[in-house]
Amino acid sequence: MRIGIPRALLYYQYYPMWKTFFEELGAEVLVSPLTSAEVVASGCSRLSTEICLPVRVFCGHVLSLVNQCDHIFIPSIHSVELKVYNCPKFIGLPDLIRASIPECPPLLEPDFDVNKGRRQLYLTIYKLGQILTRNPWRIRKAVDKALKVHRKYREEIRSQKLTPPQAIEKILYQPKELGNKGLDSNMTIALVGHPYLLYDEYINHRLMRKLERSSVNVVFPEMVEPIELRQSLTQLVEQPYWTYEDEVIGAGGYYLRHGIDGIIALTAFGCGPDSLMVELLRRRAKKLDKPFLNLVLDEHTTETGVVTRLEAFTDMIRRRRKTSSPSFHYIPHFGNEAEEEINVLGIQTFGNVLAAIKTVAKMLDISIVAPPVTKHTLSLGTRYSPEFTCIPFKFILGNFIEALEQGADTLFMITSVNACRLGYYAKVQEQILRDLDYKFKFLKFKSSQKGLVGVLKAVKHLTNDSPWSTVIAAYRLGTAKLEALDNIERQVQKCRAIEIEKGMAHRIFRQAVTAIEEAPDLSSIKQVMSQHLEKLNQIPKDSGIVPLKVGIVGEIYVVMEPFINMNLEVELGKLGVEVRRTKSTFFSEWARLGQFNVLNEEKKKMQRFALPYLKRDVGGHGFESVAEKVRLSMEGYDGIIHLAPFTCMPEAVAENIMPSTAENIPVLTLLCDEQMAKAGLLTRLEAFVDLLRWRRKKLGRL
Ligand code: SF4
Repeated sequence: MRIGIPRALLYYQYYPMWKTFFEELGAEVLVSPLTSAEVVASGCSRLSTEICLPVRVFCGHVLSLVNQCDHIFIPSIHSVELKVYNCPKFIGLPDLIRASIPECPPLLEPDFDVNKGRRQLYLTIYKLGQILTRNPWRIRKAVDKALKVHRKYREEIRSQKLTPPQAIEKILYQPKELGNKGLDSNMTIALVGHPYLLYDEYINHRLMRKLERSSVNVVFPEMVEPIELRQSLTQLVEQPYWTYEDEVIGAGGYYLRHGIDGIIALTAFGCGPDSLMVELLRRRAKKLDKPFLNLVLDEHTTETGVVTRLEAFTDMIRRRRKTSSPSFHYIPHFGNEAEEEINVLGIQTFGNVLAAIKTVAKMLDISIVAPPVTKHTLSLGTRYSPEFTCIPFKFILGNFIEALEQGADTLFMITSVNACRLGYYAKVQEQILRDLDYKFKFLKFKSSQKGLVGVLKAVKHLTNDSPWSTVIAAYRLGTAKLEALDNIERQVQKCRAIEIEKGMAHRIFRQAVTAIEEAPDLSSIKQVMSQHLEKLNQIPKDSGIVPLKVGIVGEIYVVMEPFINMNLEVELGKLGVEVRRTKSTFFSEWARLGQFNVLNEEKKKMQRFALPYLKRDVGGHGFESVAEKVRLSMEGYDGIIHLAPFTCMPEAVAENIMPSTAENIPVLTLLCDEQMAKAGLLTRLEAFVDLLRWRRKKLGRL
């Protein structure tokens, strides 16, 4: 049996181990050729530009193996360390490839996730071995040999200062001459980044050789002991969030403390993790007054461009040396003011949540600052955020600055542990706000914290230990308001499409938001809700219209915040479209008693819909987006609008898988960033709605 292994992404970490395992079991292993212009072009022709260059190059390597082998090995590596996750593109890699290369031979796509326990890991490896033999001892022997080779490979890299390609050459093919002798140069530059950027000479335009040719001594992450990488990482960010964070944050932090002249961070355009990690590194280097260059690569990067930037960087370092300045000693800030009293709580809001939060705050006597999301929020957030991060980050940072300016002494942030950038927001936002000299307490609430009890404990903590009875009463009143608002909003979504006087339903909704916010107790909430539902029923409607039905799916922040999606639902209503959003984009579904169980049930249902196309949870709402396409098509919807922040990783995976589903319901993907313009949005909406009308006529569904 011939098993193909693409020479990209995790090839640089695990190729000797994988090759040994399969060959021990009698397979022939075929590795794709070196990256070339053809490989890059073919990969870029199959995946959208929202997918980072390394993954598109990987796709090109897979294409070069099609018709050469019986299987292609593409593991889904979720996590190799407890509570530390891989980026969504790694997790969804087999699904991405299956969707973009239908002619691909069958994939070997085991899921590796150490959080699922050792037994699951052994079972996964055993199942993988079973494609070649049923003999468990042979599989066990192959695993032992493969692990031995892996350890030797990592040791060779560190002890001989070899790059991964050199070590692969040495371990597997024993060439004569090898090894970096280290130049007798008086300038040392550290290169940090993911191995598939540092060691793929085609992608990085032979960066390392260029530096060596200009007499620069180059050091890289693999030269550092893992324990030292981890110590440096811990110093910078306390604990890892992403797999391979050591290569960027760990290595950068280490070299910034070990006498290098400058640091070059190599990142890929559209890389989610690097957009935030490199920002922390850049700020640390600035504080230590160390030259720092972030070289962002994509398929348009040219050799000349790279050379120009390198020359400018090394010249600057040489000039500086003549006027060398003393180095600084810098300690990053990690909030530890947990004990202090909360006076004014600053929170960022989106969707309808503010009414509930204000109610809870009033009942628990806590003053809050919750600035609305506006143009000013975006300009503030864009000014101080890393350029390549996703739009929710920029809005939330802008909101926090506004809250601090309005007197907040404590900020509250929800984080998550599921591979998308949300879980890293707090680390970078806190650093940016501290660097802007704001003094505040930063309270983080992990969305995975134990369901309802976790939420109530957080509310109790946020309200300086209010009595449980008050906390529970406040929570009940708050969730009742969310429920009432969501019920009214669902009715408004229906009315907008058929109301004769456009905008009437929306006005009633705005009135309802204010009335619900002011309702003092459960019975008045019920009353206000039925009054406004009745008002909506009374709206003059065009009963002759059968509205188009469109589902809105995508990343929760851009789906739920009208300012960011430019009032998409209102605009669709004006075009006679009835809108439906996924359950997880209604806060009341989150807050329903028993909380995450409801959503977990919903998630299981989603899995069933998504399964043929996306077999694993890639974080964020990527899963739901694919599942909703299948479900809404089954429910006879006319179309789907897929809303996602530009470069959002889970949604980029979903965006590239959705076209491959059998359900050919039309999907319009709208990518949100600070460049997004209303006129452009309206033009695309009108064209999409015209297409849906034409299609409905063609299908005779009028
Ligand atoms: S997004 Fe970043 S971490 Fe993820 S595959 Fe792309 S380059 Fe690697």
